[in-house]
Amino acid sequence: MEEKIEHVQCLIIGSGPAGYTAAIYAARANLKPVLYQGFQPGGQLTITTEVENYPGYADGVQGPDMMVDFEKQATRMGADLRYGTATSVDFSECPLKVHIDEEKWISAEAVILATGASAKWLGLDSEVRLNGHGVSACAVCDGFFFKEKEVCIVGAGDTAAEEALYLSKICSKVHMIVRRDEMRASKIMQQRVLNTKNIQVYWSSEVEEILGEEKTEAVRIINNKSNETTTIPVSAYFVAIGHQPNSEIFKGWLDMDDAGYIITQPGSTRTNIGGVFACGDLQDKIYRQAVTAAGTGCMAALDAERYISALEHPVPSDHFSLP
Ligand code: NDP
Repeated sequence: MEEKIEHVQCLIIGSGPAGYTAAIYAARANLKPVLYQGFQPGGQLTITTEVENYPGYADGVQGPDMMVDFEKQATRMGADLRYGTATSVDFSECPLKVHIDEEKWISAEAVILATGASAKWLGLDSEVRLNGHGVSACAVCDGFFFKEKEVCIVGAGDTAAEEALYLSKICSKVHMIVRRDEMRASKIMQQRVLNTKNIQVYWSSEVEEILGEEKTEAVRIINNKSNETTTIPVSAYFVAIGHQPNSEIFKGWLDMDDAGYIITQPGSTRTNIGGVFACGDLQDKIYRQAVTAAGTGCMAALDAERYISALEHPVPSDHFSLP
């Protein structure tokens, strides 16, 4: 049986701050956007607790509530939000095609990709059990809740170093757990970490367990050279061992860096394929904030609007280049 194809003007994949913001702008530009929410509607913010650094929420807001607000706003503007996950794409020709749940193709003049990234975890049961109760993958989001407390952070890359330094300004002590006897982070970041008095580095050490019933109370680590275990009392456990951009299905179509982040042209959300725009954490490994994701979502909708408008009203190429 031949599969049906539905054609839309502007298709958005992903429902974090980037995807919803793109939907708000695209709907207001009358592009009648259709947005597929993916396997985790609302994205990474739905697994955080209080968000205090998103401008406009003077009293802070719970992450899941904020995403409900984003969703409501996109719906109110007329975006068509749907359950469903993109499972493959065909960007070989215009219109561009995206397969949803392996059962339905959607074709579109412009596609905005906002599939985000997922934090990597060690895979401990206690990470799941205490998530939101002192277990976090985002120091900038949650560090403030542990003011003057002792916390630990796992990882030794630039993110871990940056987040350890961030936490050191808020918390009384930061225990940094590094699995090898050296750090992957750039030399300058390593030096900063090692020169910060309230950061203690545990070399060749791995977290065995996070301890605590209702909330995080300690971590048990093991030195992988001596096999010696140590229990460190902490109020929070931060993991910073990297993120994985959700870009698997775009491999072979879109230019990506070694880690799988989509490469966009500087100052825009344009990818190497005309009509395909990438925003949010899918293309940002540096800032990764809700507000920056929303900002690039806005950019993607504006880029898509210009692209579609140029398709509909072609002008000589020396006058205007397609975004
Ligand atoms: P990285 O992949 O660079 O580092 C991940 C770190 O986590 C490594 O130290 C790794 O250890 C450790 N790790 C991985 N798995 C485990 C595990 N199971 N147990 C314990 N430790 C583990 O990720 P980052 O997020 O730090 O950085 C990603 C990229 O973004 C990098 O290119 C980085 O330079 C860049 N970046 C740049 C910034 C800036 O310019 N301001 C800020 C932040 C990131 P090991 O070394 O042993 O493999």
